[in-house]
Amino acid sequence: PNSLEVSRLAYAYPDGTQALFGVDLTIGRGERVALLGPNGAGKTTLVMHLNGILTPGHGTVTVAGTPVRRDTLKEIRQRVGLVFQDPDDQLFMPTVRDDVAFGPANAGVRGEELAAVVKNALDRVGMLDVADRPPHHLSFGQRRRVAVATVLAMEPEILVLDEPSSNLDPAARRELAEILRSLDVTVLMVTHDLPYALELCERAMILSDGVVAADGPTRELLGDA
Ligand code: ADP
Ligand code: ADP
Repeated sequence: PNSLEVSRLAYAYPDGTQALFGVDLTIGRGERVALLGPNGAGKTTLVMHLNGILTPGHGTVTVAGTPVRRDTLKEIRQRVGLVFQDPDDQLFMPTVRDDVAFGPANAGVRGEELAAVVKNALDRVGMLDVADRPPHHLSFGQRRRVAVATVLAMEPEILVLDEPSSNLDPAARRELAEILRSLDVTVLMVTHDLPYALELCERAMILSDGVVAADGPTRELLGDA
């Protein structure tokens, strides 16, 4: 199955603001897709539907063949790895290792298997050497990489990142790009950083006024932005 299928997704907030007006999109396994669009276009609202923070008003969201529904939320939250814009919203344990272990431990992984999962996730983001340090002793760029590791440890079907390059200095930005490129996982990144989208994503979608206004090769959509 595809990593993600969204069909005719519409959503209005409780105050009546209609944020999505029938979003259709399909992301195949292993694709890296940039989600672009002006403020207020509905990007955050769409992302909140992917792991069931919001449930569809109309339409469907399907992750690796499983529909997002109240009774599938546990499975969906394991399969959709959300990396927030601010890593400090995601890191709250005494050490980096504890933060990365939190999700899998909660899912019942124990002992040597847990240690191996944590090691692998930290290795994939180049953060193994800081495993025993408190997250707040790390640089912002390092904390963002640890935040990525916390979701990789859940072995997600799709990694969804909100503005992954924001607040990074050029070196940290480049390091994160290399890491994201090296991952063998489906990626959807919400970004205003067009060079980053061009560099990392073969495909881009532009959300505008709650619908997908364009979808195609990033280079064609953005030219030499
Ligand atoms: P984006 O992430 O692309 O900036 P959002 O998904 O945040 O767009 O917003 C889409 C629309 O929904 C906007 O009109 C926004 O004002 C509105 N909106 C977002 N969150 C809420 C909310 N909690 N209650 C009411 N309206 C909201
Ligand atoms: P982003 O930068 O990701 O597009 P925003 O800055 O648009 O996010 O929104 C930040 C927060 O404010 C979100 O939680 C969103 O749901 C909320 N929000 C946005 N617009 C409204 C609105 N019109 N009414 C209530 N909450 C809103």
